[in-house]
Amino acid sequence: MMLDVLQDPGSRPTTDPRPGISGVAQAALVRWFTDRGEPAFRARQVSDAIWSGTTHALDQVLTLPSALRGPLGEEMRFDTVADTEVEVTDGGQTEKGLHRLSDGAFVESVLMHYPARARSRERHTLCISSQAGCAVGCPFCATGELGFTRDLETAEILDQVRHAARRLDADGRRLTNIVFMGMGEPLLNLDRVLAAVEALNDPKRFGLGARHITVSTSGVVPGIRRLTALGPQFTLAVSLHAARDPLRDVLVPLNRRWPIAEVVTAAREHAASTGRRISYEVTMIGGVNDTDIDAQAMADLLRGDHAHVNLIPMNPVAHTPWQASPPAVIEAFAASLREAGIETTIRHNRGQEIGAACGQLAAERAGAPSAPAVARRRALLVTASAAALRGERSADPAPDGVGE
Ligand code: SAH
Ligand code: SF4
Repeated sequence: MMLDVLQDPGSRPTTDPRPGISGVAQAALVRWFTDRGEPAFRARQVSDAIWSGTTHALDQVLTLPSALRGPLGEEMRFDTVADTEVEVTDGGQTEKGLHRLSDGAFVESVLMHYPARARSRERHTLCISSQAGCAVGCPFCATGELGFTRDLETAEILDQVRHAARRLDADGRRLTNIVFMGMGEPLLNLDRVLAAVEALNDPKRFGLGARHITVSTSGVVPGIRRLTALGPQFTLAVSLHAARDPLRDVLVPLNRRWPIAEVVTAAREHAASTGRRISYEVTMIGGVNDTDIDAQAMADLLRGDHAHVNLIPMNPVAHTPWQASPPAVIEAFAASLREAGIETTIRHNRGQEIGAACGQLAAERAGAPSAPAVARRRALLVTASAAALRGERSADPAPDGVGE
């Protein structure tokens, strides 16, 4: 749906068929050179330049003979991001990047700076997008409201990282963490996400430790199982939001296809097989998923699991009638989970926290929906959440485009 909603109305979409170099597999890059009678090490020269913080264009790759730069540039793109606008907020602590891709689609990344504390070093975390829009349609999420535009190419995922890395490099700093918590459902674009993670993790390319990479999912069970089969690669975060199916059906429409028991079983098997703790994310929505009954249901669901729960106050988005739970309610929810022995943290929102910020710039760019449309949507959500609180399951089908 809304296929053109993320198009920049001011520019004519021009889809560039050349793949981005950052997403080309190393073996394919080697082959490109050897097919032309060139030594294999040319591929390394190119990828060193791609991942260096100081090279901004193929013309600047001086290690490569100019006679090769032209033909390479005709077949591959140095950068798949046509244009990036950076908005700095929170007194310089947060940098939101709005990236325009070659076909006019917009995606977002958010760079967050955390100063050094007594027990932790300074951190620079980048939240990146895996799709333009999202088919899952969670009603509290700005990206969900936009609908699905398309999957990102591997290079389009990686080039968000290169942009942030270059900005940091200019100040002698480095990215310390990458989270797939921007626009899109990473496990519905899993091949490209895995190729991107491999490049990020590869010491000869970006070289970030796997433990510093987090992939977040709304609960695509076949995708979780595929990750489990691959072994311990990175941190898996599961967006749980509710421990009761009627409510989760409303908050994460994908739940109608893969309900809570299946998601949590897959997550448990992942933890058991990889030895890595699962991170559960819960967006706290006032009066919707923060009741005592919900806290108890979540405590019962996760008691004894190798898991960590993050409670995140909902960031307000225009099309929902909902707001963040009050701090005292979140504290009480956390206390119930802790009483059940579940490690729980509250992410105090500076208006900038991971995920919450993503999708909002693109939503603003897409233009506000009409007032009657917003009113209809709000009324529907009020009815749906009230029915869910009474324990009634929705009869609506799972969203399209999220098949196995
Ligand atoms: N699609 C994946 C990853 C991207 S969303 C997923 O859902 O896990 C990343 C995180 O941002 C999710 O945990 C999501 O629930 C959260 N999020 C989305 N909109 C939010 C909002 N308005 N306030 C707070 N968190 C939000
Ligand atoms: Fe998609 Fe995640 Fe937003 Fe849900 S929360 S609509 S899965 S991006």
